[in-house]
Amino acid sequence: MKKVLIIGSGLGGLSTALRLAKKGYKVTILEKHHRAGGRLNLIEQDGFRFDMGPSFMSMTYELDELFNSTGEKNPIELEELDPLYQVFFEGNDKPRLIYKDLQKLEEEFKDIEPNLAQKVEEYLTRAGHFFHDTEDKVVKSNFNNKLEYILKLSRVPLKHLPYLFKTMWSEVDKTFKSEEMKIIFSLVAFFLGSTPFQTPAIYSLLNYTEMRHNGYWKVKGGMYKMVEEILKILDRFGVKIVYNTEIVGIGNSNGKLNEVIDQNGNRWSADIIISNSDAASFRGNILGRKDYREEKLDKMHWTLAPFTIYLGVKGKVDKLTHHNYFLGSNFKGYADTIFTSSINPQKPYYYVNVLSKSEESCAPEGCENIYILCPVPDLRYKNDWSDKEDLASNIISDLSNRTGFDIESNLITKKIMAPDDWAKSLNLYKGSGLGLAHDIDQVGAFRPRNKDEEFSNLYYVGASTTPGTGLPMVIISSKLVTERIEKDYANIS
Ligand SMILES: Cc1cc2nc3c(=O)[nH]c(=O)nc-3n(C[C@H](O)[C@H](O)[C@H](O)COP(=O)(O)OP(=O)(O)OC[C@H]3O[C@@H](n4cnc5c(N)ncnc54)[C@H](O)[C@@H]3O)c2cc1C
Repeated sequence: MKKVLIIGSGLGGLSTALRLAKKGYKVTILEKHHRAGGRLNLIEQDGFRFDMGPSFMSMTYELDELFNSTGEKNPIELEELDPLYQVFFEGNDKPRLIYKDLQKLEEEFKDIEPNLAQKVEEYLTRAGHFFHDTEDKVVKSNFNNKLEYILKLSRVPLKHLPYLFKTMWSEVDKTFKSEEMKIIFSLVAFFLGSTPFQTPAIYSLLNYTEMRHNGYWKVKGGMYKMVEEILKILDRFGVKIVYNTEIVGIGNSNGKLNEVIDQNGNRWSADIIISNSDAASFRGNILGRKDYREEKLDKMHWTLAPFTIYLGVKGKVDKLTHHNYFLGSNFKGYADTIFTSSINPQKPYYYVNVLSKSEESCAPEGCENIYILCPVPDLRYKNDWSDKEDLASNIISDLSNRTGFDIESNLITKKIMAPDDWAKSLNLYKGSGLGLAHDIDQVGAFRPRNKDEEFSNLYYVGASTTPGTGLPMVIISSKLVTERIEKDYANIS
């Protein structure tokens, strides 16, 4: 029975463990943190329970595929978000509700955007064609080299070519009349680590996944339920997880990586090693690869860092729903500076999630748990977060004003995680929240591979390897790396 070591218990690591354990590999996971899940984690404080990172999922059929591949029925109960979310624009007390149903959406925006249903229909149809023409060919494929990738790309119908040379903003600008609608449709660019003014129009496929294809879903019981359910199956499959164990170096190697070394000097050996630690920074910081040394890593494009605030408050904030965006004015100016500014934004744009709206058990009776996520520059641009209380106070006071609910006076508990906290607790490179960005030169065969260049038994899974970031993508990543391992070890017992 082949022994496998997985470094990291993020969703990528856990999903790979599930797949390989089912196939008979003997799997051990080593995790730096005290709890499994990586970014998909949990914070429990003063009777409140918060999802630490992800708050919704798209492409949920990937979860079914994961469980079904191990012979299990998907145990996770999902609830579709409808409306998907609400958006508060600066200077307007009434939020805009974003519906998947185009007639309802048209009604919501009838004062500013005529014929909206038809415009969105056409926009999503174009994006949908691109999504379906690339999902299996490009997103769900392993590539051995750049040529193979380019050949695969050449099989994508030529009609999509203009998408590569246009920005996402030009696509929304062409489609919609109102600034509000353009902004709403281009918010997804920030998830990819770019701005709509830079990211190519191909990523309008994300609008398609949220608004038409599968939508946004939350997990009954909170997002962490996903991890808890996977852990139950891993336990049955005999997978061992060792917590508070960080891999800091490598030991004996001879074309193969035979050992890795933890912070206490313990040596861990296996036939196959898989890093769920960031695929780019692991190569640089742990393996000492020249192509991934700090100055090279710093030149790569990384997604924004999270600045997160977890608040337990007494009372109910009526204006908030499960999913809320609070936007300022001057969208273009904000987008142009947010990635590289070294000072706290004066008028931050932020996202608010209130799990207690649907999950009473996550907050004491009559209370609300509020999770705020404000994307900020990573540690390359702003390294000192000793002023994190200032940004948190600014956001909390803005949220109080815009919801008409005095948060400060009703506060029971508060926790802030600045980019340096995220970096420290989960080894996120310079605090980048979603890992490597998705520029054209950082996807497909141009993204760090899921198989190591030098060690024949070392593999990678997770957000910074293929296909990319986000919960469904790292589940696909676990499938791709499992396929690679199965192929490499098919004839070796
Ligand atoms: C604030 C935030 C909000 C998000 N919201 C969403 C959302 O709503 N929907 C969505 O789909 N996606 C969301 N994402 C993205 C999603 O969380 C990630 O893409 C996904 O969870 C990444 O999983 P992973 O397995 O690649 O890595 P991780 O979750 O980062 O797991 C890696 C694990 O490896 C461990 N580790 C690292 N280095 C070592 C080492 N040397 N030794 C031992 N252990 C190590 C870490 O501690 C960690 O547990 C969000 C991310 C953030 C930060």
